[in-house]
Amino acid sequence: MNCQLRWGGSLTLLKDRGMTEASRYATVKTTLKKGLVMNSQVKPGKLLINNEWCEAASGKRFDVINPATETKLTDCAEGDQVDIDRAVSAARKAFETGPWKKMAARERGRILNRVALLLDKHRQEIAELETLNNGKPIAETLHVDLTLAIETFEYYAGLADKIHGETIPVNGPFLNYTLREPAGVVGQIIPWNFPLLMAAWKLGPALATGCTVVLKPAEQTPLSALYLGNILMEAGLPAGVVNIVTGFGPTAGAALARHKDVDKIAFTGSTEIGKLVMKMASETNLKRVSLELGGKAPNIVFADSDLDAAVNGAMRGIFFNQGEVCCAGSRLFIEQSVHDEFLSKLKASTEKMIVGNPLDPKTQMGAQVSKEQFNKILGYIEQGKKEGASVVTGGAPAHPKGYFVKPTVLEGVTNQMTVAREEIFGPVVCAISFRDTTDLVRQANDTVYGLSAGIWTRDIGKAHRFARDIKAGTVWINCYNQFDAASPFGGFKESGFGRELGEHALELYTQVKSVWVALN
Ligand code: ADP
Repeated sequence: MNCQLRWGGSLTLLKDRGMTEASRYATVKTTLKKGLVMNSQVKPGKLLINNEWCEAASGKRFDVINPATETKLTDCAEGDQVDIDRAVSAARKAFETGPWKKMAARERGRILNRVALLLDKHRQEIAELETLNNGKPIAETLHVDLTLAIETFEYYAGLADKIHGETIPVNGPFLNYTLREPAGVVGQIIPWNFPLLMAAWKLGPALATGCTVVLKPAEQTPLSALYLGNILMEAGLPAGVVNIVTGFGPTAGAALARHKDVDKIAFTGSTEIGKLVMKMASETNLKRVSLELGGKAPNIVFADSDLDAAVNGAMRGIFFNQGEVCCAGSRLFIEQSVHDEFLSKLKASTEKMIVGNPLDPKTQMGAQVSKEQFNKILGYIEQGKKEGASVVTGGAPAHPKGYFVKPTVLEGVTNQMTVAREEIFGPVVCAISFRDTTDLVRQANDTVYGLSAGIWTRDIGKAHRFARDIKAGTVWINCYNQFDAASPFGGFKESGFGRELGEHALELYTQVKSVWVALN
């Protein structure tokens, strides 16, 4: 995400196109018609197996909802075990006998580059679709989700022909070298908070290495992945290399995690389901597993920090994507001497946020993804109040219709309260005052999670000591929620294992073979 993308910034792409509110909706309607119904090439609502769009074997379908209006957007094929079986066998055939694995790595890179170009070409349409389906603001979909998804494919396009083994000096008259081979057929289960971006994080490295894939998007947000399916085919991906099965977790997802012919499973979602996936992955065979799970990140503000920048960072940490971010800075530790000043600045800025129509380019926070999430978040706010926290601002639905929650600041939170221990996955930040800096790292680490952490201070020694001591996969110093396709991302502790993005992600999708050659 671009550092310049700050709350209150002017992101006016749709407006730049000279659109009125009414014509913007008209455009979206056209998009929907074109994308989902009329264009014979794009057939979301179906499963993509072996480069063909097809119905679920059961013929079942499920509704896809627009969370901003609570109305049905469309419906999708409800894949289950039978469809997963079909998709896995297409992926197996493509892996064993198709051209993908044998193709020159550079050619695979070219195809991935074409995917990036096509995503860029259809950026507006996909962003609108994503916003309609997920509820996130169009400014973020366009400038964060789409930009990062495109960059992810570009990055792995460039890496495809740079995956190589090594020669190792061994004892005796032998030549020893390693081959880095693709892991095989990969199952990828992704969540609803960044639907397209999570697909890109998963597909980019898997395809660069020569794996074939069965992708299971979240049931709440399947549309952008289906759009991507069409782009993958247009870019030249051979049949069976990427198969997309929409459907529910306990049926389609579980069938993929259990499948005997899947070599590796990559999962992003809740810690609860991640543990289940890990168990299922060893039921019929011994799949390799990588998990990117929940978080309860500490975001620490010291008195010596630039307080205005820290306020901005605290907001970006928790309100970005409606707080539906696994690395959200949900535990906001504030040094006591600046606690009141900081909170009054935070309150003032939070109350200026524009929460509403996700398709309006001025909107800064959209709708939560589903009624379930909406109710869960409001339930946590009530729980926080019951345990002694008080609401500085927010704490209620933002609009009578749609799953909008006001950006919420709770104060008087202790690290032991439910709101500080469990992942809320919403726009609710828990302010915790601290005086004793020696105990701070212990408190920050006092969580089952370890995905990320933030620190705001002008003292570089303090910042780097914290970066070493905190048990988290990502540390942001005087910034928050920065991402780049080249920088690894993943968790410590119950936030999971394995690193996505960067060169590290290639390790998830390759295995090393050691070859010995007698030289005498
Ligand atoms: P959340 O609780 O935030 O919706 P989940 O972890 O349940 O997150 O969902 C993330 C992904 O995991 C989704 O694609 C979902 O369909 C899938 N999923 C949910 N339950 C299961 C399950 N029992 N087995 C496999 N995948 C599942």
